[in-house]
Amino acid sequence: MMLEKKIAALDRIYAAYDRFCATLDVACKKYCARCCTSNVTLTTLEGYKIVDHLIAAGKLNIIDELKHTVATTRYQPQISTNRLAELYAAEAKVPEEEMAAEWEDCPLLTKTVCSIYNLRPFGCRCFVSGKNCAEIGFADIDDFTASVNTVFLQTIEHLDADGCCGNLIDVLQVMESEENRQAYAKDRLKCEPNGLIVNWSLKVLMIPPEHRTKMEPILEELRRIKI
Ligand code: SF4
Ligand code: SF4
Repeated sequence: MMLEKKIAALDRIYAAYDRFCATLDVACKKYCARCCTSNVTLTTLEGYKIVDHLIAAGKLNIIDELKHTVATTRYQPQISTNRLAELYAAEAKVPEEEMAAEWEDCPLLTKTVCSIYNLRPFGCRCFVSGKNCAEIGFADIDDFTASVNTVFLQTIEHLDADGCCGNLIDVLQVMESEENRQAYAKDRLKCEPNGLIVNWSLKVLMIPPEHRTKMEPILEELRRIKI
């Protein structure tokens, strides 16, 4: 089934990113959760995988926590990363996005522990910082790692090109519905009516010229992941 192949490919993409992270010197460690805010975004493929695992484990009650989050201040993207890449490449006008300035904690954070840690989406995995965010007030991420993160975001969106993306609170609640999961499995999930945005296939990678040579081994690894 195509969806199972996509989920297997997603896992290989996560594994490739873990290998990249293993080369970094980061301050991130267990129970460090300042980066766990209500601004996390993900694709419907990642949302489907999370909800599917929670159902199989009899832990769908974790998603129930999200039902109280309707009024949570959160970042809801208006344009996908691959669409943004195309606009930049065409030197077209790029709509301004507003990140929620007064964000709240991620509703899946229990004290300082993520309730879906092993299932967390790429938007959480790519929080890596050279210095402890709690000490300096922000994540310290070098330019090359930021470029790598963008390439992985674009690749995951491409893998889910028939799907949607949005804030974690919104995507997981959409995917909690059996009707929506079935529609998604048949590539028939409507994005906008569900408060999500449409994913785009990858046409142009956003890699600054100075990072292209260093990026090549990572791109080669990603190219080998086929569905
Ligand atoms: S990104 Fe910052 S807050 Fe998040 S785990 Fe790393 S050091 Fe901690
Ligand atoms: S899903 Fe988990 S890792 Fe991601 S922001 Fe929420 S608590 Fe943190």
